[in-house]
Amino acid sequence: MLLKGKTAVITGAASPRGLGKATATLFAEHGARVAILDLDGEAARAAAADLPGEGHIGLACDVTSKPQCEAAAKSAIDGLGQVDILVNNAGITQPLKLMQIEPENYEAVTDVNLRGTLYMSQALIPHMRARNTGSIVNISSVSAQRGGGIFGGPHYSAAKAGILGLTKAMARELAPDGIRSNAICPGFIATDITGGALTDEMMEQILSGIPMGRAGQASDVAGCCLFLASELSAYVTGSEVDVNGGSLIH
Ligand code: NAD
Repeated sequence: MLLKGKTAVITGAASPRGLGKATATLFAEHGARVAILDLDGEAARAAAADLPGEGHIGLACDVTSKPQCEAAAKSAIDGLGQVDILVNNAGITQPLKLMQIEPENYEAVTDVNLRGTLYMSQALIPHMRARNTGSIVNISSVSAQRGGGIFGGPHYSAAKAGILGLTKAMARELAPDGIRSNAICPGFIATDITGGALTDEMMEQILSGIPMGRAGQASDVAGCCLFLASELSAYVTGSEVDVNGGSLIH
């Protein structure tokens, strides 16, 4: 039980096969109470009800909206009593080439991934500062490190690279307040984020570039979130942790 008595907010965690739900489940198995945030409040509540243990909550929150992040943070603090951990997991991707990126594509992808990470962190940092404790885990991507080449387009790589810079800047600024900030860079993980647009040919090409020879599982990323959320990583901040089966050894 690595998170006994702890509480966590996880964004974009209602997707049944997603990284957020797997992380919420593992946190709950380790004794945490969890607030699941997602676009659809009903889906968030259903996902929270599905977690092991008691006291989890589901809340509607579009992370691109600062007022919605602030309202969800308040509800999470009221509902859980305190918030020790934030996982900024909400994200979307689009398989576009450079010249296909229209303004609305750029805005959609950078807004959810990067702006959402900033807004949700800003919403909980005052509470964490007041308690002089907190662990923030931001979900970036191997696409940030290798310039895409998996599924998402250049705007996705840019947004996820922005998350790495934001994570490190937050780590520097928040360390004196007892708050740690780290990023995870997953490689190719079998979830529903590709929305059916992943062809067999793309899949074959991706798998050929993974030394471990398999797609990652959501639980592979959840385990890393647990490490960064818990006291096992008490002296780790500003880091980026690769969870990619060896697809970027550098
Ligand atoms: P997923 O599509 O299963 O889950 C993403 C969730 O985010 C969904 O529940 C969705 O409703 C939610 N969401 C979307 N826009 C939102 C918004 N504006 N506000 C709140 N919630 C919103 O995807 P996943 O694969 O579990 O991805 C989780 C995170 O991991 C994302 O940030 C993604 O970019 C990142 N990632 C995934 C992979 C992969 O291969 N699956 C690899 C690297 C990084």
